[in-house]
Amino acid sequence: AGSFNYGEALQKSMFFYQAQIAGRKPAWSQVSWRGDAAMNDGAAAGLDLTGGWFDAGDHVKFGFPMAFTTTMLAWGAVEYRDAYASSGQLTSLLNNLRVPNDYFIKAHPSANVLYGQVGKGDDDHKWWGPAEVMPMARPAYKIDASCGGSDLAGETAAAMAASSIVFRPTDPSYADRLLTHARQLYTFADTVRKAYSDCITDAASYYKSWSGYQDELVWGAIWLYRATGDATYLAKAEKEYDALGTEPQSSTRSYKWTIAWDNKQFGAYVLLANLTGKQKYVDDANRWLDWWTVGVNGEKVRYSPGGEAVLDSWGSLRYAANTAFAALVYSDGAADTTRKARYHDFAVRQIDYALGDNPRRSSYVVGYGANAPKNPHHRTAHGSWWDNMTVPTETRHVLYGALVGGPSAPDDAYTDQRNDYVMNEVATDYNAGFTSALARLHREYGGAPLAGFPQAEKPDMDEITVETTVMQNETRATGLKVMIYNKSAYPARALTAATYRYYFRQEGTSAIQVTPGYTQGCPAPSTAKQASGDLWYVEVSCAGHTIAPAGQSAHRMEVQFKVGVAEGGSWDPSNDPSYAAGTTVNRNVPLYEGSTLIWGQEP
Ligand code: BGC
Ligand code: CA
Repeated sequence: AGSFNYGEALQKSMFFYQAQIAGRKPAWSQVSWRGDAAMNDGAAAGLDLTGGWFDAGDHVKFGFPMAFTTTMLAWGAVEYRDAYASSGQLTSLLNNLRVPNDYFIKAHPSANVLYGQVGKGDDDHKWWGPAEVMPMARPAYKIDASCGGSDLAGETAAAMAASSIVFRPTDPSYADRLLTHARQLYTFADTVRKAYSDCITDAASYYKSWSGYQDELVWGAIWLYRATGDATYLAKAEKEYDALGTEPQSSTRSYKWTIAWDNKQFGAYVLLANLTGKQKYVDDANRWLDWWTVGVNGEKVRYSPGGEAVLDSWGSLRYAANTAFAALVYSDGAADTTRKARYHDFAVRQIDYALGDNPRRSSYVVGYGANAPKNPHHRTAHGSWWDNMTVPTETRHVLYGALVGGPSAPDDAYTDQRNDYVMNEVATDYNAGFTSALARLHREYGGAPLAGFPQAEKPDMDEITVETTVMQNETRATGLKVMIYNKSAYPARALTAATYRYYFRQEGTSAIQVTPGYTQGCPAPSTAKQASGDLWYVEVSCAGHTIAPAGQSAHRMEVQFKVGVAEGGSWDPSNDPSYAAGTTVNRNVPLYEGSTLIWGQEP
């Protein structure tokens, strides 16, 4: 136990959050292969809703798990700020934590209005490409005083309150600003008493809070109490606690699940036990964590032979990691020495399992440790230009620090397949408890982050190219098919003013003729220009046409034309700088975006 480099894992986890950033790419981003994305979010609603995080391997901004992730990350920093500082990750953490909070500020334009989702689930999920060139509309959805919901507003209040504690030492005015929003959102949540997914119905099939919103009312009040010291919030949390979920047909508080984006009540057990020391919270926390370790009345969470505690098939490691983090916080505050050790050891075991202490001797964190996953279910990291999960075969980017779902059953079995979103998706919420647990383990066991991390990635190919095919070699003309290909991914970028030139030499004074042929979109040429002396070129301009790595036809542009001379003239392609027989990638057809040469060379 305690045998991994937790500092390196923490450092890489910080990278993962940067890879999920929507909107303007911040100057501090370490992800060389990301760029600006989703820059029009909110525009249709007359708002700037850019920013925040893409949820997972997709590009929807689901506010509910985004807020939960924020709370969990902030919680880790509230408890273990010293570990972030000693591992050199505090600045990264503060940078990362500002991303969702800045977004929540924009998403909360008035007391009882909160935007809870940008992007439509189905439309987003059916397209497979990089965030920078998403083609679909991204509607924004809100809750308000007439249309729920307490779960979303309560969790967002928790997130902003918890974050305010983290920002207070370095940026007290930002902390105050977050608290103002958190207070308003909590009052809204407490007053409206509705489920957000009944209002933002598009969220219902992805992130409906099955546990209801009672847990968020408790959780939000706890975090407001911690952020403000105002005892009325503690009283409120304790009052709402008594209405939390119980096991079926009993008055025993639920214990056969865990803290995750849906249900925070297990986090409330731990926090209220630590904050008040009252026996009822201690009992609830003990029962819950005993079910995860030694069992309760002969029943416990399922364990794999290799030692993973498996709660559910989808994203099993995230449940284990969330529980591990809460167990560490509780263990640190616990008086009962047997349980203190039991929960601590459980947590180390689960985190170590994810880092490589498992029967496969493999890490479940991308870019970390032995035999790490290479093919996470993640659109932007894959870098397809074809809108297709199988093109290209290899994942183009290393999504450092992302914890994959992991085994879907208590059998330690796993395959590294991109299409398997149950075992191999990654998500902001998957990493949140995990990251916070890593900070805690770094404090205890150390481990130095890597120096010089990360290296900028080098493109795996010429990202943007021109290919020519000589279709006809005629006595007085050359018939051409010219393709522009945009397979960019470092970062992915759209061409909106692509222009190329086909250079040739005039024989004597023969009058030049250009004949337009088939075009996929941008105008086929009908004239040529004299560059100097006998050097001429045909220019094809795609200004106003988007060529982006967003699909089979979207990533390319085909134009055909013939260039030659009139009756009586003479034509010799062998001295034409751009002439290349057959079909070939042709660097002698220089490509420009606007007036900037971006590929190939002029003669
Ligand atoms: C998406 C995943 C998502 C899953 C279930 C897939 O199409 O790629 O991101 O988790 O659908 O909604
Ligand atoms: Ca809930």
